[in-house]
Amino acid sequence: MSDELASSTSKDDKNLRHRLEAALSNGLNTQVEPRAYEHDDILRIVSELQSLNKTDYDDKLILAGFTLDAYNPGDDPDDNQACETCMYYLVHRQFCELPELMLPVKENWSCRLWRI
Ligand code: SF4
Repeated sequence: MSDELASSTSKDDKNLRHRLEAALSNGLNTQVEPRAYEHDDILRIVSELQSLNKTDYDDKLILAGFTLDAYNPGDDPDDNQACETCMYYLVHRQFCELPELMLPVKENWSCRLWRI
């Protein structure tokens, strides 16, 4: 990737990340539960996400159940389901590369498609 392209990607990511964060901060009501632990649940949510347009950002946040803090199913901090521990998280870009999402995120965000 050229320096110019990398720079524009980084700026685009930053702008979109800010927009997503604002939507969540402003109370966008996302479907945090039920979590997608079973294969059928994953397939259903992924299928719903596939029906969206690439720029249906709010709907992506809603269907995937985004939160600004790591979801935790219990009391054990080791169970945090944060982007930073998810197999789809690109550390250096702070980006979710799940094909149905492809969104800039932050390490402590979370969604119900989290997977290690
Ligand atoms: S799939 Fe993983 S990296 Fe992507 S938003 Fe959900 S928790 Fe974060």
